[in-house]
Formats: sequence, structure tokens, C-alpha cells
Amino acid sequence: MANLIEVKNVGKRYERGGRPFWALRNATLAVAEGEFVTLLGRSGSGKSTLLNIIVGLLSPTEGEAVLCSTPLSGLTDEAASELRNRSVGYVPQGAGVLSTLTVLDNVRLPWYLAHRGPEPEGRAQQLLEEVGLGDLANQYPSALSGGELRRVAIARALMCEPKVIVADEPTSSLDAQTAREVVSIFRRLADKGTGVLMVTHDTFSVDVSDRLYDMAEGVLTERAKA
Ligand code: ADP
Ligand code: MG
Repeated sequence: MANLIEVKNVGKRYERGGRPFWALRNATLAVAEGEFVTLLGRSGSGKSTLLNIIVGLLSPTEGEAVLCSTPLSGLTDEAASELRNRSVGYVPQGAGVLSTLTVLDNVRLPWYLAHRGPEPEGRAQQLLEEVGLGDLANQYPSALSGGELRRVAIARALMCEPKVIVADEPTSSLDAQTAREVVSIFRRLADKGTGVLMVTHDTFSVDVSDRLYDMAEGVLTERAKA
């Protein structure tokens, strides 16, 4: 199976209080078509830094990231954002929905940003139903709870039928049942060929994942699955 994500010897150095430190060191990881990969690690260990590099929102200090066979290092911001829109379902940490659009329009937005023409009939509504928010389609985000906003972000990430899903703690602030449903959606998509890379603390997603990585103080290691 082809790799959708390839990270080779990637490092990221930040400055803090005038002193440089490495948030990520020599990280190497791959996610192939049809794979569900979980990334675990404590807060502050470098997980979001790695994900932001993978989706082309952050440049690494060293090493190389390749997304859907395209090396990110050579891309302009515009080209990276087009690639992200076309191929990646990114669920950033936090909600990140637009407060001036209804829930339904938030989910639809990536489709229009990708210039894909008319929305397939009812697709955004269908995705909202899959994440249990069918009844809230016409509400504005201010009327939703934190967990509901997470689910809007998940539905939005699936709108353009991404080749690869990159999700940063998508199940945080969800109850156990809803978290399981979200992970099951990702698992089903992986079974149909989508690549999934997910940061989480849920044991359920550890159980259904094909491979696991641990992050500790910027050092990434693959864990042998029990
Ligand atoms: P995680 O997602 O695992 O909680 P992050 O990747 O967000 O961790 O952060 C890793 C480390 O890098 C943390 O110590 C964080 O404070 C630091 N960090 C993140 N972004 C920046 C930044 N823009 N500038 C300086 N330090 C940062
Ligand atoms: Mg994080």
C-alpha cells in the first residue's frame, strides 16, 4: 500500500525565553492507505507540532515531510493549502469553527473552498447525522457545547472525502459513547482505504488501531502492539 504520510528525520526547534529548544527530534513515521495509526503522549510532548508539520502548516527545522507523494518543503503556502484542502481531513486541536456560519455551512465550507462544484445532495447533513448532530444543522456555533463543536470539526474534515485524516485529539471533550462512534467512523473509513493518523488518549482507539506511536519529550517511537 502506498504511503499517504511520510516523515523522515524531522526536527523542530522553537525559541522560548530567548533560548532554543527542540520540541521534536529526528522523528520518522509513515501512514499507508488503509492504516489507522494512533499517536500517544503527554501534553507538551510535541504531538501537535508533528501534526502541524505533516499537514503543511508548520515548516520543520530539519528533515522532510511528504504528504500524498508531494514533498511539502518545495511548496508555497498557497500550494500547501490547496493540497491540504484536496487530500487531507484535518481536525485541529480545539474546535476552530467559524462563528458567523451555521453548523451546516461550517461543514460544507471546505467543499466550496476546494472549488468542487455543487455539493453532492445532502452530504453535509448526512455527515452531521453520522456524528449525531443532525438536529443542530441550522444552529450557530455559539449554541453548541464543546463536545458538539468537536463533532462539527470532525464532520467538516470528512466533507471532501479525504485520502488521509489527521486528527488532533478529536475525541477530547466527548463522552465515551460518542468518542467510540467517532473512532468507529475513522476505522470504517480506514477499512475502505483512507489513512488515519490520530492523537488521542482513548484506549478504545488504541484497540482498533493498526499501529501505535509514542511521543515523549519530542522523541517519537513506534510501539509494538500487544
Ligand atoms: P502536544 O501537542 O504534545 O501537547 P505541542 O506540540 O503543542 O505538544 O508542544 C510541544 C512543545 O513545544 C511544548 O513545550 C510547547 O510549549 C512548545 N511549543 C509549541 N508551539 C510553540 C511555539 N510556537 N513557540 C515556542 N514553543 C512552542
Ligand atoms: Mg497538542
